[in-house]
Amino acid sequence: MKFGGSSVKDATVIKKVIEIVKGRIKKEKAAVVVSAFGGVTDELIRLSKEAASGDKGYRSGLEAMELRHLTAVRELVKVANQSAVLANVKVRLNELDDVLHGIFLVREISPKTQDFILSFGERLSSYIITEAFRDAGVKSNWADAVQFISTNNEFNNAQVDFETTNKQIRKFFKDAQGVQIVPGFIGSTPSGEITTLGRGGSDYTAAIIAAALKVRELEIWTDVDGIMTADPRKVTGAFPVSHLSYEETMELSHFGAKVVYPPSIQPVMEKGIPFRILNTFNVNAPGTLVSKKSVHFDAGIKGISSIDHVALLTLHGSGMIGVAGISMRLFGALARHHVSVIMISQASSEHSINFAIRPDDVATARKAIESEFRNEIILGQVEPVKVEEDMSVVAVVGENMQRTPGVAGKLFSSLGRNGINISAIAQGSSELNISLVIDNKDIKKALNVIHEGFFLSHQQTLNLFVVGTGTVGGTLLNQIRSQFEYLKDTHHLQLRVVGLTNTRKMAFAEHGVDLIDWKQMLQLEGKKADFGKFIDRMFKCNLRNSVLVDCTSSGDVAAIYKDVLEKSISVVTPNKIACSSPYNSYKALKRTAALRGVRFLFETNVGSGLPVVNTLNDLIKSGDRIEQIEAVLSGTLNYLFNTVSAKNSLSTTVKKAMDMGYAEPDPRIDLNGVDVARKILILARESGAKLEIKDVKVDHFLPEYCQKAKSVDDFMKTLQKYDADFEVKRKELEAKGRRWRYVATYKNGKAVLALKEFESSHPFYHIEGSDNIVLFTTMRYKAQPLVVKGAGAGAEVTAAGVLADIVRVGA
Ligand code: ADP
Ligand code: ASP
Ligand code: MG
Repeated sequence: MKFGGSSVKDATVIKKVIEIVKGRIKKEKAAVVVSAFGGVTDELIRLSKEAASGDKGYRSGLEAMELRHLTAVRELVKVANQSAVLANVKVRLNELDDVLHGIFLVREISPKTQDFILSFGERLSSYIITEAFRDAGVKSNWADAVQFISTNNEFNNAQVDFETTNKQIRKFFKDAQGVQIVPGFIGSTPSGEITTLGRGGSDYTAAIIAAALKVRELEIWTDVDGIMTADPRKVTGAFPVSHLSYEETMELSHFGAKVVYPPSIQPVMEKGIPFRILNTFNVNAPGTLVSKKSVHFDAGIKGISSIDHVALLTLHGSGMIGVAGISMRLFGALARHHVSVIMISQASSEHSINFAIRPDDVATARKAIESEFRNEIILGQVEPVKVEEDMSVVAVVGENMQRTPGVAGKLFSSLGRNGINISAIAQGSSELNISLVIDNKDIKKALNVIHEGFFLSHQQTLNLFVVGTGTVGGTLLNQIRSQFEYLKDTHHLQLRVVGLTNTRKMAFAEHGVDLIDWKQMLQLEGKKADFGKFIDRMFKCNLRNSVLVDCTSSGDVAAIYKDVLEKSISVVTPNKIACSSPYNSYKALKRTAALRGVRFLFETNVGSGLPVVNTLNDLIKSGDRIEQIEAVLSGTLNYLFNTVSAKNSLSTTVKKAMDMGYAEPDPRIDLNGVDVARKILILARESGAKLEIKDVKVDHFLPEYCQKAKSVDDFMKTLQKYDADFEVKRKELEAKGRRWRYVATYKNGKAVLALKEFESSHPFYHIEGSDNIVLFTTMRYKAQPLVVKGAGAGAEVTAAGVLADIVRVGA
């Protein structure tokens, strides 16, 4: 049983450990390997660096460490037995003090001295824990690993001499009485110098002993419920895997899953000894069983891990094609200089080789390669090695990948859709692992995207950045809040508003703004709004499945869509400006979205929440051809024509429409026909016509002096002036028993707007309130047009339409 640093970090947890071991030794024999108290190894490294740099500050760190160990003794050992134990601990700490002082004096530390210093962590912890076991009535013995783990003298990362070590372990344990408590991580050279086995090496100590003694099972007790599908610190929703094969575990740990130290797997695998990862803090969790068997997992893969900091080197040149021995020379040179290669990928054209190494090795690697290929470089056959730093390796692991087609496709498409660029790919011939090199800045996003794609495909999170909290934006936020649980439970879709801004304030919350009180939150906690900064922040957040939701009618916001889509962020908006902008810009947005695999959705540009754009798209996609669109598309104008009466003048009705949120914030856009012109333009474009806004023929029904008003206030004044004349015309119409409708028509590539009168027999006569109606006459719907009709304005329906588009992004 091996207990890691967090499992022995203080007296309280050590007492738990004692209980766990007591339970186990009721039925069978056990030996215990322990790490240093949590964080002590790091602290020892820091203190020795401080001392070596002549910084006296190391003394206070040493005192704190002393206090920590002495306190543990006081809390674990009965008063009667304390003094001897305290004295022993003190002796060791004094020895540590002496060594550190020596380093301080000579301002230098050798790897050998470093290892000696690091050994204090495990030697102290194991000694104190042995005494604690005794105190708790368990017969136990401090088993000095230095006596039986025999290594070479590669300090810091010593190689174990298994032949000698195995013999020594067997001999030691043959005569041993009680539970042996072994310090992990350390060993010694044949001449008795202390060595360490590499960071995380206590796992290795345990595995070496387990293999030498051919135990039934090795248990590695840590602070998580087992080996998880991904690093739980980086991926929300990572969960423990119940079974893994040795190979799978080896791949995961080699590629960064810190939960097991990679070399530990070899000795137990050779002997076929199963091992289990268990949680000291949750003893009832089943943990992960690692054995020969690979158990099928529906996800197709078993886990994802990453090495966050690597450098990607590329050797390329025309002189490499078809020349035998290039890779041998390249990797031979690296090996001679002790540069370890994390992954390799070579294009089949043989004209370049990519490989990832640790950032610390870059300078050595560069020198080694440039000297090995000096002649070829001079002759221009090989280019000087290209180095890309700040890269990361992501590895996707699982034996089932062999039998699951499409794993690679899913992997690349989910990364692509999120704008994550892949610099190199390697797939082992065993197909146990696909490794990718990506930019370090994308690592967290990549891990989450992949994890969501494979393990949580039934669940998806959209990260929303909402601009505008006016009538539509505000209503949308309320709808998101009230639909949140439903979407999560029924559609497994989580909508998370990460950024929120209006013209005054902006706020961010990576795990989602609390929408219950978004108004107050924005008011109290929001920063001064700055749209440029808002967008920068959205880009920096670099979250997967991001969506910009523009609920403004601002041209400045629309102007940013292209950049946003370029960054693989979807755009959803009721703002018509972008789609009615010059044809080339509209087309560029659609093209960019398609290229980046994200969505640009604007259903609410026409007919508010009514399914107009989607219906049109579905017709076309299914092979239909649009022959004519005839539509009443202005909720505001309809409302006006339906409401104006002898009692309600034109100007008061316009005012009312504004108050009710039907009209655009600037009513001129509605009354001058601009709004309807934009809508029919969008429908025409979606039908395939290459039209500009100036091509839409607009029939103005207001006199020129109204059309020319310079401001909203001015406009309202001119309307009042026009009220009387308008009333005369209205009376005439009423007398004829007709109604006005402002009709938009698209036919034969042309779009026209006209104010028309309709008798009660025409369907357009009966459009109530602010309703819209669209008639599609198509190749298939010829005799009877396809009709879409319903409320075409209002905050609730528009926001609902925006929400539906957002949900569509997730689909
Ligand atoms: P110990 O001190 O017990 O040896 P470590 O800190 O070395 O523990 O390893 C356990 C930690 O490894 C966990 O707390 C977790 O944060 C991290 N970790 C990284 N990747 C994984 C993974 N795939 N599964 C489980 N834990 C992981
Ligand atoms: N204490 C050592 C380290 O932190 C070994 C271990 O805990 O496994 O690396
Ligand atoms: Mg560890």
